[in-house]
Amino acid sequence: MTYDAVIIGGGPAGGTVAILLARAGWRVALVEKTPFPRRKVCGEFVSATSLALLDALGVGAAFRSLAGPEVREVGLFAGQSTLAAPMPRGQGVTAEGGRAVGRHHLDLLLLEAAREAGAVIHQPWSAVAVERRERESIVTLAAKDAREELHARIVIAAHGSWEPAAFLMDERPAHRGADLLAFKARFFGSRLTPGLMPLLAFPGGYGGMVHTDGGATSLSCCIRRDTLQRARAESPGLSAAEAVLAHIVEHTAGVREALAGASLDGHWLAAGPIRPGIRPRFAGGVFRVGNLAGEAHPIIAEGISMAMQSSWLLANALTREAFDPGRVEAAARRYSGDWRRSFATRIRAAALFAAVAARRHAPAAIVPVARRLPGLITLGADLSGKTRQIVR
Ligand SMILES: Cc1cc2nc3c(=O)[nH]c(=O)nc-3n(C[C@H](O)[C@H](O)[C@H](O)COP(=O)(O)OP(=O)(O)OC[C@H]3O[C@@H](n4cnc5c(N)ncnc54)[C@H](O)[C@@H]3O)c2cc1C
Repeated sequence: MTYDAVIIGGGPAGGTVAILLARAGWRVALVEKTPFPRRKVCGEFVSATSLALLDALGVGAAFRSLAGPEVREVGLFAGQSTLAAPMPRGQGVTAEGGRAVGRHHLDLLLLEAAREAGAVIHQPWSAVAVERRERESIVTLAAKDAREELHARIVIAAHGSWEPAAFLMDERPAHRGADLLAFKARFFGSRLTPGLMPLLAFPGGYGGMVHTDGGATSLSCCIRRDTLQRARAESPGLSAAEAVLAHIVEHTAGVREALAGASLDGHWLAAGPIRPGIRPRFAGGVFRVGNLAGEAHPIIAEGISMAMQSSWLLANALTREAFDPGRVEAAARRYSGDWRRSFATRIRAAALFAAVAARRHAPAAIVPVARRLPGLITLGADLSGKTRQIVR
């Protein structure tokens, strides 16, 4: 049998596009290599601009019942300073605040909704090759000693960008000191103010904290490879994650205070180097969504929203072009244009914020200005897409 669409990857991008296409009557298969539920390196915050989409996908109520408190304030923890300012609200954006939920919940919710909508889920299977033929593509899957082929009229790559051997991506550059490695942990018993999501600025990196599901607080960050190497050399005996936390705690009083007496929920996760940037949305006959299409520095905590929203844009383009094989290029042009208009600005803004936050003298440079003009923190959240309602 030939599927109308085979989707590679069951993160927020893959799950979303699977639900939307299956509901539109397409024969859909989704391939996910890891068994769910699984935890993932991610700050877990989902912007208010994605709540309407979660509702449209049929998982809004479940999301709200699991998620942490609504986030009403953005903050800045840098050096000895802890600042807070209101989260901006855009026109047409719900009055509800965004919230955080673990990826072991969110990705599973979306995948189960895709299954209910009629998508066939192949899990845990890895897609290892895509071969394009005249009328269809063949996606080869591998699991342990088994191999299988799926035939598809359209292939959608939603497998993210951090895997060491992410296939369908350009070649991975050699290791550099400036590479950003990503870490994440959840804590119980933090003293972080509920409803506040602070940006953490520390030498050689940046991060964020937010209350999430189950009374936990997530702390996620990106740190330069050379900064991490120095931090580990200064504290022999510490694991990489312990050295990262020690570095952040040393340089941000806000994190020190928030985590005093807190305990780790599970263990630290690491990924990367991350690969922020704008990439082709259609290449080699394969559509790309989520991180694979383009990725903002996680300093703006918009990657989940962009992943789901890019899938919504693609599903719209594909279903509008009425699935005529001769119209695939037209769908690609429509999707690519919609994507750029929706996300390019925030990807550039995030790159600027990341460069500033990771500078050694960032606290001295930005805190006095932000203290005098707290509206600048709100403006930063605005530029990062927190008021950009793509799905109404
Ligand atoms: C430190 C950090 C903090 C972050 N914090 C936030 C935040 O608070 N809020 C936010 O919105 N974003 C955040 N992000 C970004 C967010 O995590 C990503 O943008 C988001 O996960 C992208 O979703 P995706 O579906 O494109 O890819 P992914 O979530 O990476 O999903 C890809 C899926 O594909 C599967 N896969 C990979 N290869 C294959 C294969 N060959 N075959 C089959 N399956 C495969 C993987 O197992 C995975 O399940 C953060 C990122 C980092 C690094």
